Amino acid sequence: MVQLLLVEDDASVRTTLTRALSEHGHAVSSAPTAAEGLRQVVEGRPDLVVLDLGLPDLDGSQMLRMLRAVTSIPVIVTTARDSEREMVRVLDAGADDYVVKPFSASQLNARIRAVLRRGHGENSEEEPVRVGGLRMNLKAREACLDGRTLELSPREFDLLYYLTVRVGQVISKRELLAEVWHTPFGGTDKTIDVHIAWLRRKLGETATAPRYLRSIRGSGVKIVDPSR
Ligand code: CA
Repeated sequence: MVQLLLVEDDASVRTTLTRALSEHGHAVSSAPTAAEGLRQVVEGRPDLVVLDLGLPDLDGSQMLRMLRAVTSIPVIVTTARDSEREMVRVLDAGADDYVVKPFSASQLNARIRAVLRRGHGENSEEEPVRVGGLRMNLKAREACLDGRTLELSPREFDLLYYLTVRVGQVISKRELLAEVWHTPFGGTDKTIDVHIAWLRRKLGETATAPRYLRSIRGSGVKIVDPSR
């Protein structure tokens, strides 16, 4: 069982997430302040920290720097600040991933699983992730659709994998440029549109008759399970 520490000052968010993440099979403890969170990290040695950036006693990114000074424990930051500058800043400060509020517990759980998979080395990377008939194996860098291997370029694979581990979540083009292309302030939306179009062709769908890949005008793109 994974031991999670949730650092969140909003009592209702804390209660809801604690219950939901427990239902996903995690052991969850929580802290309402950065000071209490730091104490629990040291004493409880959790496997992963979910850290709210807006805390009453210390800015979450300050707490993140303090954590990083003493431990390499995975940290997922939750933030209401939907600004790319803020996100780049927390990733630079050593966050492993972030989710922007409002998010669902199952989105957060998918991120938790993805972060833990990254940290757990080879065996867990061999576990494929699935959305409907799509199956992706990061270690082998293989993608199959309905049992048939997809011939993807490295970038197409990275893009599809990034979306697949975040199933159901709308991902902005800005985030894709930052996380898949690693050019948060360069590149253009057009680059992504072109790669999405190529992926669609390989997945046997079109923009007008989408199945897995859904473009949300003005927001970004998400992957969904078409059988649901
Ligand atoms: Ca807060």
